[in-house]
Amino acid sequence: MADGSHPTLPGFAHVYSGKVRDLYAPLDDAGEARADRLLLVASDRMSAYDFVLDSPIPDKGAVLTQLSLWWFDQLADLLPHHVVSTDVPDEVAGRSVLVERLDMLPVECVARAYLTGGGLSEYEATGSVSGVALPEGLVDGSRLPEPVFTPSTKAPMGQHDEPIPFEGVVAEIGPELAERVRDLTIAILARGNDVAAERGILLADTKVEFGLRGLDLAPGEDLGEAIRARGAACEIVLADEVLTSDSSRFWPADAWEPGHPQPSYDKQYVRDWLTSAASGWDRHSGETPPALPDEVVAATRDRYVEAYERLTGTPFVPAGR
Ligand code: ATP
Ligand code: MG
Repeated sequence: MADGSHPTLPGFAHVYSGKVRDLYAPLDDAGEARADRLLLVASDRMSAYDFVLDSPIPDKGAVLTQLSLWWFDQLADLLPHHVVSTDVPDEVAGRSVLVERLDMLPVECVARAYLTGGGLSEYEATGSVSGVALPEGLVDGSRLPEPVFTPSTKAPMGQHDEPIPFEGVVAEIGPELAERVRDLTIAILARGNDVAAERGILLADTKVEFGLRGLDLAPGEDLGEAIRARGAACEIVLADEVLTSDSSRFWPADAWEPGHPQPSYDKQYVRDWLTSAASGWDRHSGETPPALPDEVVAATRDRYVEAYERLTGTPFVPAGR
């Protein structure tokens, strides 16, 4: 885990642990770590407000992995994805995938179809989100006239992702790639909403990550410089996870009612408990959040599983087979 307690997997070298995922490189016949592949293992860790909580959510890693796999298929005509194989070690079956190792773009690509969360706060303060002016009178849960790209920085572990305007993305990755990832992010959100709508779910917003295929970074070369110099000639590949309850806000369509927070199938439930009086935690104290009560853990697991089952129309099977 982020504290070093990731599983040991024979045949794989541990590369990195993010808040939720543990990354490994498969070893080749000579026992060397392969540079072109990663095993992406989703743990049951829950992050909220940039903290990794002490309470894991049972089966969350498997739900996120299998929901992402399902969505990668649904989106395959829009762009290529990073999945190579689901033939993985038994110990992490169902919650890991072997992927193409990409040079990741250093931006979190967020798009919003409905206004809530950080987008709502920005709108209330400025009348716009990410530099896009919005009509007056929008409230929590309002549908936006059209989806808006609201990118943020990809902060190093332990730091907060900061919203940046579109020009900030241009500065990081150049104008051509910036326009392409903006359009792709909005296309993924739109497709996600088309599919989810058939299942009675609204997709309020989502975050995706893209990587480049074919950047061929030279040893010691700066990633940002390489991306700006020749990234536009590379293929953009959808990476990480996609349209999951960790990366997206899912709302039951029949309960949608702008003007207040919406019931949801995502981690908003955990955020709401953490910021409620019941938790006794002050989000701005800098202190680690408390453990979640068992019933909050169970209700969160139920929401994640329900999102999977409603979207895919198939029962959730933890081991994935
Ligand atoms: P952080 O890594 O900053 O903690 P996070 O909590 O979102 O962010 P995780 O989701 O736990 O991170 O870890 C996944 C990591 O793997 C991310 O840094 C993501 O950019 C990276 N990643 C995902 N897919 C690929 C890929 N195909 N090639 C290389 N890196 C990838
Ligand atoms: Mg992540």
